[in-house]
Amino acid sequence: MIPYGRQNIDSNDIKAVLNTLKSEFLTQGPKILEFEKAVAKYCGAKYAVAVSNGTTALHLAYLVAGIKKNDEVITSPNTFAATTNMLIAVGAKPIFCDIKTGTYNLNEKEIKNLITKKTKAIIPVHFAGHPCEMDIIRRVAKKHKLIVIEDACHALGAKYKNKKIGDIGDMTVFSFHPVKQITTGEGGMVVTNNKRYYEKLLSLRSHGIHKDKNGKNVMTELGYNYRMTDIQAALGESQLKRLDSFIKKRKQIVSWYKKELSSVKEIILPEELNNVRSGWHLYIIRTKKKSDRDKLSKYLKKNRIGVNFHYPAVYSHPYYRKNGYKNKKLKNTELYQNSCITLPLHTELSKKDVVYISNKIKEFYE
Ligand SMILES: *Cc1c(COP(=O)(O)O)cnc(C)c1O
Repeated sequence: MIPYGRQNIDSNDIKAVLNTLKSEFLTQGPKILEFEKAVAKYCGAKYAVAVSNGTTALHLAYLVAGIKKNDEVITSPNTFAATTNMLIAVGAKPIFCDIKTGTYNLNEKEIKNLITKKTKAIIPVHFAGHPCEMDIIRRVAKKHKLIVIEDACHALGAKYKNKKIGDIGDMTVFSFHPVKQITTGEGGMVVTNNKRYYEKLLSLRSHGIHKDKNGKNVMTELGYNYRMTDIQAALGESQLKRLDSFIKKRKQIVSWYKKELSSVKEIILPEELNNVRSGWHLYIIRTKKKSDRDKLSKYLKKNRIGVNFHYPAVYSHPYYRKNGYKNKKLKNTELYQNSCITLPLHTELSKKDVVYISNKIKEFYE
């Protein structure tokens, strides 16, 4: 089976992990701060806080932003459930904004229609690595005094108008799961330019315990153990060095697909707008005829191609259906979720693989 995504580990990564294993600290050692500084620098942001995964990064970002019971938060239904699960975990209500055809990101022009007195924040999700229209989102947020937390779990290394993702919103969240741009096994990070957020994130990551002005350890608020290990941070630091080459490779694979598949009239290929650099986390095609999707998907699977489904709209999960979203249906989201197929895209995919996958799609339509 050709997987839809996978990690890329080289001998330097292995060396970095082994060195940490032989060192004094397996956790809470020097590697965490090194990795945080490297990611912050890469993104052009002031601060970064490494945590155990992208989901805990979202949880902490929401807590630090003060999102709480009965707050409404506007986000995309076209995301991994963690984005809104963590909103529910802090007691807030996700308000789903329909997506656009084209990038499948939330429609920034719709946001203002969803704002109420209870709205606290906007969570843009840079779907498949393609940045949302951040200038417009920032403008709406500023006008209504809303916090912007970017779920950039797909978008490490992406750029919006020459600004790296990580240097735009109030906080930006990344994941280092093995299918993402770089990996630490499990891992996540919150990046911010706000010192107060930074200090609070550090404290909540470790039980809410920090030093008071006399140097005594005190717990002043309810925190967690969401720490990353130094073993993971060593891997992350090593991986980060290759991030730009990873994205270049992903982009090359995208161009191979484009060359092979442009002639197939029955499908729609993904696009990258002019003013951005996508992180190309996922390669998603859509079938023009809804009824083709499941058949094509099945055909590709039968031919050992690890196609996937990103994503069922979050509001259509049984849990959400049972908890207030029973009849939720958004027009473009419905169209999208019934016609999308994720094709393999990762740095170890060869041109031969892409030609093989593309030929199977052509075969299906012949
Ligand atoms: C992967 C992902 C997450 C969660 O990250 P984990 O590290 O797996 O917890 C959250 N949001 C989106 C959009 C993701 O793709």
